[in-house]
Amino acid sequence: MVLDRSISELKGVGSKRAELYKKLDIFTVGDLLRHYPRAYEDWSKITPVSLAMPNEPCCVKGWVVAAPSEYRVRKGMTLYRFRVSDGQNSIQVTLFNNRYAAAKIHRDEEVLLYGTVMRNGRHFEMSSPLVEAASTGERIRAIYKQTEGLSSRMIETNVRQALALVESAALPDCLPPNLRERMELCDQLTAWREVHFPTSSASLDAARRRLVFEELFLLQIGLLRMKNRARGITGARITADYTAQYAAHLPFSLTGAQSRAIAECVRDLGAERPMSRLVQGDVGSGKTAVAAGVAYTVIRNGWQAAMMAPTEILAEQHAETLHKLFGDRVRIALLTGSVTASKRQALLAALAAGEIDLLVGTHALIGEHVHFARLGLVITDEQHRFGVGQRAALAAKGVNPHMLVMSATPIPRTLALILYGDLDVSVLDELPPGRQPIQTFAISSQKRERAYGYVRRHLDEGRQGYIVCPLVEEGEEPSDLTAATELFEKLQAGPFSGYQLGLLHGRMKPSEKERTMAAFAAGEIQLLVSTTVIEVGVDVPNAVILVVENAERFGLAQLHQLRGRVGRGQYLSTCILISDHSGEETRRRLQVMCATTDGFRIADEDLKMRGPGDFFGSRQHGLPNLHIADLMADMPLVQLAQMSAANRLEADPELAQPENAPLRLAVARLFAQVGAQGLN
Ligand code: ADP
Ligand code: MG
Repeated sequence: MVLDRSISELKGVGSKRAELYKKLDIFTVGDLLRHYPRAYEDWSKITPVSLAMPNEPCCVKGWVVAAPSEYRVRKGMTLYRFRVSDGQNSIQVTLFNNRYAAAKIHRDEEVLLYGTVMRNGRHFEMSSPLVEAASTGERIRAIYKQTEGLSSRMIETNVRQALALVESAALPDCLPPNLRERMELCDQLTAWREVHFPTSSASLDAARRRLVFEELFLLQIGLLRMKNRARGITGARITADYTAQYAAHLPFSLTGAQSRAIAECVRDLGAERPMSRLVQGDVGSGKTAVAAGVAYTVIRNGWQAAMMAPTEILAEQHAETLHKLFGDRVRIALLTGSVTASKRQALLAALAAGEIDLLVGTHALIGEHVHFARLGLVITDEQHRFGVGQRAALAAKGVNPHMLVMSATPIPRTLALILYGDLDVSVLDELPPGRQPIQTFAISSQKRERAYGYVRRHLDEGRQGYIVCPLVEEGEEPSDLTAATELFEKLQAGPFSGYQLGLLHGRMKPSEKERTMAAFAAGEIQLLVSTTVIEVGVDVPNAVILVVENAERFGLAQLHQLRGRVGRGQYLSTCILISDHSGEETRRRLQVMCATTDGFRIADEDLKMRGPGDFFGSRQHGLPNLHIADLMADMPLVQLAQMSAANRLEADPELAQPENAPLRLAVARLFAQVGAQGLN
């Protein structure tokens, strides 16, 4: 198929240029056509020289009144100067070292110059503008994301060739004709042609609308098909509900929201189709107890369960928590990358023999030597840290096992529709009783000493706290490590001498981390100086103070996660954000943190400030990348695409009808890129 042909089959794309294209993630003709322009230059709007705004690029049209002359200024620097008149004014144009461009400019020819016009008294000048013959250049031109050695213009040329190739192949449109008609969308070829070589801004808009819809629609179709597929028939159909037995042994009573979520899951477990459910709840809402309850019923029915967490600290903590919740009634084992070879061997043997009921661990659980005897339930915690692919890999270790996904990163609902389009959702909209809202203050470093005094008072009362160090970009000095270590030493020697301090950072050995966390959980460490390794999930209810240094370095979602480390018990908790940054955005972010503890509101604000790009990357979620859709601006299309996708699949679940064949192919191709096979 022509879209899958290698980019190097295009004229003028040799192996060297193909290498450059790789840097842009472009391998095939289809990739190139989906390398949508990041902006446009309007060469169709001609500006009279006298009206050109300073510092604003514009397009000037005129006659060459003096051909280029060459000036060698110094070694390696040659200027080419020529004059252009637009009928009223004349401009002096200078090109630097560009013999190639200069050679194409002749006297009495009409040209277009694109660039900024500088005014020098009564003289006008342009320095290194783009030059084009007026006969061919008067149009809207695409600007592409480029890379060194591969300019936007070269890309444009190759895109033109790719278009010609696709045109001659008479490709069927991936959107069925009746859908296009109903949604008033232009056909694929027109859309590609117009998005790369617009003939007018209206046709560009129409092309964009079609391509955005297509992108969102294909994504939705793929997600829905995955969801339906997951709903083949489960090997672990479960009918006996052990929730009451589980609840009877708990040290607390479940909240209404927790009971509801467990009931929804247990209802799913009894169906022919496997459960595929997301439990979304703000930090501290008690998701672990929900997962444990569901696991308990599955296990009592004779099946095994697996729980995967994104970090070792979290996996260890889960293993411990579950142990407390279940006592000896469930056989739990922990598998992480740091389990020794001999232990690991024994563990895997026991697992395969069915002597382990619940395996908790990191992505080590996906390892190829991990075999379950009867895997009935797969749980992933902090889902945003895993991709769709990893979830599926774990599920593949059972026969269509049930899937439960927990996420503490609240995301705006519309975005959830996309990211979790393949899941049913239960929301924990209630915190366990007795929680007091966390009070949050943003202060400057001048007040740091006072803040430390406040922290000491709480430590004296028997409480604990965290001090979180700045997030440091890789390669930046000082590194996370030194930042955390230095702060730790400074605090231990000065403001917190006489207190039990601990240090936790990402580069410690897992066993050291474990020891430190255990000491903190046991209350032996009063104040934990840490990098963001405590960000997800860590649960020590006696910790009531969180101080964040250089708070401006953290995103809103991350601050919210960090803050979730306190306020987990009966005590009033405080979060202190220290920052000397006076930037507008920082101020707004910190204000949001002080004003609300509602994760959904924070997520909305975050999305508004950052734009959806950060939320939506294939690396993060294991979903195909969006090339053109802008989730904020295109939200109405998201919903339309969703409805259209659902309708289409309802009428033709396997996309088996001939009119849907190109659609099926396009979806399969899209998802194959992220390793989700088998959608064709
Ligand atoms: P998260 O939803 O952030 O993962 P956890 O599952 O870690 O939250 O639970 C947070 C804390 O709340 C834990 O200490 C847990 O023991 C406690 N907890 C959970 N459910 C209840 C409940 N129904 N009543 C009281 N405490 C609870
Ligand atoms: Mg959790």
